[in-house]
Amino acid sequence: MSLPDNSFTDMDGKPLENAPEAESCPFCGSGADQLVVERWGAEDDPDPSYHVECLECGANGPQNDTAVGAAEAWNARK
Ligand SMILES: [Zn+2]
Repeated sequence: MSLPDNSFTDMDGKPLENAPEAESCPFCGSGADQLVVERWGAEDDPDPSYHVECLECGANGPQNDTAVGAAEAWNARK
């Protein structure tokens, strides 16, 4: 595996490019392997939003216009 240990992943399980390293979930302490960037909006929605979800406890990060922005917003939350 060439994956960094603590990179966010997208809904296809691929590492999110150009994103910061993932901070652990502030609620359950899960690491990046449980943190997925989800896309919100219909398939043809031209203006989707993104947020990070913790698969372990279901916590959602702030929404953002981009997947990377959602990752950064997750990290910024304390
Ligand atoms: Zn969690």
